[in-house]
Amino acid sequence: CGIVGVLGSHEVAPILVEALKRLEYRGYDSAGIATVNGGRLDRRRAVGKLVNLSDLLVHDPLAGKAGIGHTRWATHGAATVVNAHPHRSGPVAVVHNGIIENFRDLRTELAEKGLAAETETDTETVALLTRHHMDQGMSPRDAARETLRRLEGAFALLFLFDGEEDLMIAARKGSPLAIGHGEGEMFVGSDAIALAPMTDRITYLEEGDYAFVTRAGVEIFDAADRRANRDLQQIQLEA
Ligand code: GLU
Repeated sequence: CGIVGVLGSHEVAPILVEALKRLEYRGYDSAGIATVNGGRLDRRRAVGKLVNLSDLLVHDPLAGKAGIGHTRWATHGAATVVNAHPHRSGPVAVVHNGIIENFRDLRTELAEKGLAAETETDTETVALLTRHHMDQGMSPRDAARETLRRLEGAFALLFLFDGEEDLMIAARKGSPLAIGHGEGEMFVGSDAIALAPMTDRITYLEEGDYAFVTRAGVEIFDAADRRANRDLQQIQLEA
């Protein structure tokens, strides 16, 4: 339901939780974050309000300057910790808004390849498929691109990878995503309002776009894999 991502210069866990709070108005049933720290991808998730995630992070902190976060409004699978985002398979973590319509076919295909689903969600198949591509030797960028080609439905996605502290991959198909530009920092949000304390310099992905985000900036591609130029806008938001 709500997506945020930060490639920062400070610890991101509190920044991610604050950004998710700014999306609370949309409603949600569970929340989670993932970070990469010392090259290691890890995550924390909790059912219910964001305060439950914050409490969990007090007892079981998550360090790192790169991270993604999500508030979930369940469409496929009950509101449980196991079904909460970020979903992870091997080196990949994914947060997702919307619905992957062909997830059952993908899940069957992946199970036949030995990658069995562990959750009831449509989202997990995105992580599994990307992991499958990486198992075959693809880079994170190629693996995500290959995965996006297979997905049907209306969604926004944000990927984070083990061993990659300077990369997030964002994709928009039917559900909005905003890229926020900082000073040596970059942000992603399903609504620019989530990013208001960090930046008012926003690039909106257009329908079918995907983006490779690093601290140095963003490379955007359209649905036909052509490099795309999208405006950087200075937006008016109440921080
Ligand atoms: N379909 C996904 C799920 O049920 C994402 C729901 C959402 O947009 O929060 O987990």
